[in-house]
Amino acid sequence: MRRPFIAGNWKLNKSIDAASALAQKIVEGVTPDMEVDVTIAPPFTALAAVREVIESSPIALAAQNCYPEARGAFTGEVSPLLLRDAGCQYVIVGHSERRHLLNESNDFINRKVRAVIGSDLHVILCVGETLEERENGKTFNVLSKQLKECFLGVPASVSQQITVAYEPVWAIGTGKTATPDQAQEVHCFLRDMLDRNFGGEASKIIPILYGGSVKPDNIAALLAEPDIDGALVGGASLKAEDFLALIRNALGM
Ligand code: PEP
Repeated sequence: MRRPFIAGNWKLNKSIDAASALAQKIVEGVTPDMEVDVTIAPPFTALAAVREVIESSPIALAAQNCYPEARGAFTGEVSPLLLRDAGCQYVIVGHSERRHLLNESNDFINRKVRAVIGSDLHVILCVGETLEERENGKTFNVLSKQLKECFLGVPASVSQQITVAYEPVWAIGTGKTATPDQAQEVHCFLRDMLDRNFGGEASKIIPILYGGSVKPDNIAALLAEPDIDGALVGGASLKAEDFLALIRNALGM
């Protein structure tokens, strides 16, 4: 079994002070003996402060987004190189809020994936279908297209730098979680796709997280499924008690 991986996505929440305080409580709750990988993704403005708080802890720092160019005249954008300089180890790419609110295409996301990997960072690539796509029986077509197009030109040799997050759009922030069976069906399909895309070894290494209203009381059932390796957590990562309870429950503690 792959080591559980829990990622907290704070989205557009938390001032610098609030982010530092939350990070401090997470540091105190996640001890080095816990067999889990934990990363937190504060807003850009709080990255430096959170980096200081988590510095000597096992918690990793993630960014919520990046721009695919390394440098230049791209006002307001942040490159993977600058994120690495800011202390990030992970970058979340292709989150459904960016796909749908900001019209990000698979092609654009592919450029980000390659830029993140090229900057020696880990990418967390989010994929997921909308409710309409699920109801019209298009889930597997949509996911297969997202995965194929977002990993275009990415070689199997960098699979150690890749995590995939399956986030059904209808489950994000809605309180509706996919059932463990529903999620497992998709994760198994994604593992198969990774196998076809990168070859067998890579598909065994790449963690596939589930995201969509994951809470302390549903994490254990999700992680009991063979192809669910962890969770990308939004709402329940904003309060230390919830996030820590979720991590403990993930470990059966
Ligand atoms: C997310 O932000 O990726 C997410 C899954 O949010 P939530 O846990 O709130 O549904």
